[in-house]
Amino acid sequence: MISNDFITAKENGARQTLNLRRALLGEQFMIYYQPVVDAKTYKVVSAEALIRWDHPELGIVTPSHFIKLAEETGLIIPIGKWVIRQICGQFVLWREKGIPLIPISINIGAQQLSQQDFTHEVRELLDYYQLDGSLLAFEISETSLMKNEHFIIESLEELKELGIKVYIDHFGNGHSSLSYLNSFRLDGIKIDRSFIHDISWKPENAVITSALIEIGHNLHINVIAEGIETVEELQYLQELNCNQLQGYLFGRPCSVQDFELVLKKGQISPIQKEMINDEKN
Ligand code: C2E
Ligand code: MG
Ligand code: MG
Repeated sequence: MISNDFITAKENGARQTLNLRRALLGEQFMIYYQPVVDAKTYKVVSAEALIRWDHPELGIVTPSHFIKLAEETGLIIPIGKWVIRQICGQFVLWREKGIPLIPISINIGAQQLSQQDFTHEVRELLDYYQLDGSLLAFEISETSLMKNEHFIIESLEELKELGIKVYIDHFGNGHSSLSYLNSFRLDGIKIDRSFIHDISWKPENAVITSALIEIGHNLHINVIAEGIETVEELQYLQELNCNQLQGYLFGRPCSVQDFELVLKKGQISPIQKEMINDEKN
């Protein structure tokens, strides 16, 4: 006999799936942008696009609450397409406004990358919006690389031909990371936030981060550290010669309007920012 709890969970699941589908049709998703800066100059070199659900009752909902369901239901495919189209359209708007364009990284789920027509659709979008591929970077997880290796290698080569950069996200947090660096021609790694956190006083985190940065440098690929929250973490990463930095210290993910101010400024001083935050507190 099926318990009431199970039925409720099933009903909830069905309702949530319906809500997610409605969100897509009703254009309730939006993109937040988080800057990535050069570790030496603090120049804003790119930004990561992070999806948000502007829920009619709950307000702004972060992806940890819906990406898993989107993956389980396959809705991640149309949602993922929406994100890429949205970014391309945004580039056109910025171009029209005369705002200087910088590359935007987009998170690409494993299912999306495994789609036969994925690279073809990206090529079509770039053509349609008359955009250079170098304006896009894709962040993929190690799990994406584990499936159908031959097909993924081909897809990544096609993306490279378009000028799109490919980074491994959450690097160090998945499986057999190192072998992937050999098999796939990647442009960079994003070191997972869990290693950066407390780096200045937690020896385990410091050792791992330092090793990951060295691997990246020896392979001549870009190394981006994520989740920098304190000046101590920043200074430590600078000593290790990490190339690029992303984290609350430089700015939280923000709306397109706020991000345009960042783009116009072009540089973020973390020290000044800390002082501004202090004043608010
Ligand atoms: P991610 O790609 O590793 O993105 C970085 C996450 O770390 C973001 O969480 C960001 O808000 C958060 N973060 C950045 N700096 C800091 C910091 O200094 N401290 C702390 N505590 N957190 C920081 P968010 O936006 O909630 O996204 C979570 C994950 O959801 C992303 O991790 C990514 O895997 C996934 N995701 C986001 N947008 C998309 C999307 O459009 N498509 C897909 N498939 N996945 C997405
Ligand atoms: Mg990412
Ligand atoms: Mg990441």
